[in-house]
Amino acid sequence: KGAGRNCYAIFGAHMDDLLQARREIEYDLRRAVTEGKGLELHFQPVYSADNGALCGAEALLRWSHPTRGRVGPDIFIPIAEECGLINAIGEFVLRETCLAAQRWPALKIAANASPKELQNESYALKVMSMLKHYGINPEQLEIEITEGTLLDGGGQCQKNIEALRSIGVHFALDDFGTGFSSFARLQNVSVDRIKIDKSFVDRFGREKDGRAIIEAMIGLARAKGLKTTAEGVETDDQRMALKELGCDHLQGYLLSMPLSKEQFDKLVGGNVVN
Ligand code: C2E
Ligand code: CA
Ligand code: CA
Ligand code: CA
Repeated sequence: KGAGRNCYAIFGAHMDDLLQARREIEYDLRRAVTEGKGLELHFQPVYSADNGALCGAEALLRWSHPTRGRVGPDIFIPIAEECGLINAIGEFVLRETCLAAQRWPALKIAANASPKELQNESYALKVMSMLKHYGINPEQLEIEITEGTLLDGGGQCQKNIEALRSIGVHFALDDFGTGFSSFARLQNVSVDRIKIDKSFVDRFGREKDGRAIIEAMIGLARAKGLKTTAEGVETDDQRMALKELGCDHLQGYLLSMPLSKEQFDKLVGGNVVN
């Protein structure tokens, strides 16, 4: 019993620290969003598996916290979703994505969207007016969603997706294979592309079935008329195998880390003819 109390005391103190840190992050994130300070998009190049040409970029959000330094999106996006900041953040991401699309007109720019954003009745309208305002061809934009978005019971997400697809915006199913029923989900989803999760790319060469699983995913995507992107490509063996299996696009540290706008400019300067 004594030990139990002890454990509880340690657990309690730990919880207090965590809650305190979380409250702080929430407070600072709110300030960052309202003042537009410390948040910026980085862009990870996406390449054709076939010929290695630069085809696009995925926008990834970065936050430089005033005292903690860089805080990763894996930490602050879930907090933003819980405390209602995700819509404001999503709007920032969309705006910056449109500016990037203007800046690199020959590239497809992909932005991540949280299920919470797509549950919003006005989401599609918001995206449409943003595209119009910045003069962006809807086909230059891709929105990356997760299975969580497709599981939305109310059907609002699906409505938003349909409305945006009807004007040419593309959708990609992110982290494909990590959900409960990915394959079943593909029966009636309205996406244009699947992104094969890094965890599957990692298994290439390491596990006996690693290759077979990716082969099945690509085969399924093809049968459904969907494009494929493999994320987290880190070795040349992975790159060559993915190309051989007919994966369309590749993304990962082997090819490039996410880059700042300025770094990306240099890359585009040498690779894309507009
Ligand atoms: P994600 O969409 O699956 O993004 C891929 C993550 O893998 C990124 O981490 C990227 O930097 C990292 N990555 C790319 N290539 C490699 C590689 O070769 N090796 C390894 N080890 N990692 C690689 P990041 O930027 O920390 O983003 C984490 C997650 O945060 C994203 O996962 C996405 O779910 C979320 N996120 C990022 N930006 C946004 C945003 O603007 N809005 C929303 N809603 N979520 C975002
Ligand atoms: Ca993504
Ligand atoms: Ca992903
Ligand atoms: Ca991921």
